[in-house]
Amino acid sequence: MSKVVFSNITKRFPGVAGATAVDRLNLTIEEGTLVTLLGPSGCGKTTTLRMLAGFETPSDGTITIGGRDVTNVPVNARNVGMVFQSYALFPHMSVRENVEYGVRLLNLPKAEMKDRVGSILDTMALTQYADRSPARLSGGQQQRVALARAVVTQPKVLLFDEPLSNLDAQLRERMRDELRAIQLRLGITSLYVTHDQSEAMAITDRVVVMRGGVIEQDDSPLNVYSRPGTGFVAEFMGKANILNGKVEAVDDTTVRVRIASTVAFMLARGDRAFKVGEAVRCVVRPEHIRVDPAGTMEAKVRRVVFQGAYVEYLTDLEGQECVFLDTDYYKSGVAEVGQTLKLSIDSRPVWI
Ligand code: ADP
Ligand code: MG
Repeated sequence: MSKVVFSNITKRFPGVAGATAVDRLNLTIEEGTLVTLLGPSGCGKTTTLRMLAGFETPSDGTITIGGRDVTNVPVNARNVGMVFQSYALFPHMSVRENVEYGVRLLNLPKAEMKDRVGSILDTMALTQYADRSPARLSGGQQQRVALARAVVTQPKVLLFDEPLSNLDAQLRERMRDELRAIQLRLGITSLYVTHDQSEAMAITDRVVVMRGGVIEQDDSPLNVYSRPGTGFVAEFMGKANILNGKVEAVDDTTVRVRIASTVAFMLARGDRAFKVGEAVRCVVRPEHIRVDPAGTMEAKVRRVVFQGAYVEYLTDLEGQECVFLDTDYYKSGVAEVGQTLKLSIDSRPVWI
């Protein structure tokens, strides 16, 4: 069993006035699952991961792995594997020797060690590079060696700290899918740290959004994107319009919100009951607004960004900034700055 539980974990660094890197964090990683910590630089992701690894001692709170309190257990007695952005491979050793290094500390019989290393090199499609120096491998292959070295010890918990940040965009996507496939296959309880929201959503079943040492939302990728708990989460998860509106009518199933003189939504989505006359903020994703000659909403174009697959318009909607994407621009042409566009909003995915 290797369920991970952080209970009320706080980390203050001595000498840094008023700075609390992690503040009363509560987090559970169920056995065999992968959870992503997502947030901007400096929000406490690495510190959280390092406390689970044993490189940092919490100022307060407890951490358990498989029910065992490891809060003060040294790194080498926790059976945790780590993969970093920098790979941290030994340049003077071959790929095989790098991977062997991971298991050597376990003092296994020689035959078993050879078996394990051979099988993991195979799993990672590295057998043909076993005798090469890591310097003669691509970034993606080096990262696979680092992963092989981390999992060859059969750790209880696997930790990833921005493991794909050094790879170019295309390779990053491929490695992301590979990492996930291997994690699922091996079934190792994992904590994955990234500042990249699309990576977080793609690799995991659960995204934990952090800000200033605190968890803002702990939810499925779908929910952090479409039902953000705070304005910060809404904006961090992707482009979002946060439009001010006023509740006009409420009944059992719907809420009617007006955000501009011509724009009103009928909605059934919000995390609580709403009152008539109440001021609210609505999250409207750019992909849910479209150019529509029959639309009632008028917005003035302020900026046009051509992106190939779509045109992005930054517009002014009666004093509120409104961004949207037009994937159908080839039909009606690209609008110009200063032009007024008629738009409509798909109200179903709007979140109050
Ligand atoms: P992230 O990984 O999300 O970018 P970190 O966990 O590295 O954030 O850092 C969180 C906060 O703790 C930052 O304000 C950082 O400056 C501070 N911090 C991290 N490590 C140390 C340290 N060893 N000494 C002092 N402050 C630190
Ligand atoms: Mg970090």
